[in-house]
Amino acid sequence: MDVCVHEVTMAQAMDTIERFVATGEPHHVVTLDASMCVGARHDAELRKIVCEAELVTPDSAGILWAAKRFGIRLQERVSGVEIVAELAARSPRTGISLYLLGAAPGVAEEAAHNLQQAHPGCRIVGTGDGYFGPDKEAQVVEAIRQAKPDVLCVAMGIPKQEKWIAHHRDALGTPVMIGVGGTLDVLSGRARRAPNWMRRTNLEWLYRVITNPRKIGKVMTLPRFVVMAMAERRPAE
Ligand code: UDP
Repeated sequence: MDVCVHEVTMAQAMDTIERFVATGEPHHVVTLDASMCVGARHDAELRKIVCEAELVTPDSAGILWAAKRFGIRLQERVSGVEIVAELAARSPRTGISLYLLGAAPGVAEEAAHNLQQAHPGCRIVGTGDGYFGPDKEAQVVEAIRQAKPDVLCVAMGIPKQEKWIAHHRDALGTPVMIGVGGTLDVLSGRARRAPNWMRRTNLEWLYRVITNPRKIGKVMTLPRFVVMAMAERRPAE
């Protein structure tokens, strides 16, 4: 389907990210969902970014379903919100520091506060909102450079966050950069995740539309994703 995804579990993704941090070199982590797959088909820049990312995790039930169709049994979803929560939980032990960039003003600060309350000693070395104009771009990059995080979490939505990371990856001086979508809205408590039973039954998309009708555009990409996957030749055929 023009993009690639790594066959990783959450634990393997964590090990990989920790290894990336240890190298000090820039690494882009993409959390791939069905809407990004559909977007990448028509957006060559996004497609290139996904294909060149050092780690691409399976972020949605749709990705697991499509992989299974092609004979690859991905064990679990590895979503942006879970990666950030897990990095924060491990931070007091690993010493890995995070910078939270994105969402409306105040949201990243609230998310940082909640993570630090939940995991005392968790290192969050900076926050910023995702609604700055081109005139503030250099200032935002400089603030991140100064803070020297190990992991930069960019929550500006797909594909803006992926393109922002790709554009600034060499200037930021950050070993790991991850696009994490609506993660900060969830971690701040402003948005809720779907209840467990809805996640288990692959109905998280339905919960999102009910609680946030603006998500309808994203959900509308799902039928296209299914058509794209069905049209793809299976390896055995
Ligand atoms: N956002 C942002 N800057 C923008 C556009 C969006 O910081 O210019 C934020 C928005 O406030 C929200 C997140 O990006 O917190 C996008 O969340 P969504 O769940 O829509 O992400 P996606 O579904 O694309 O992963």
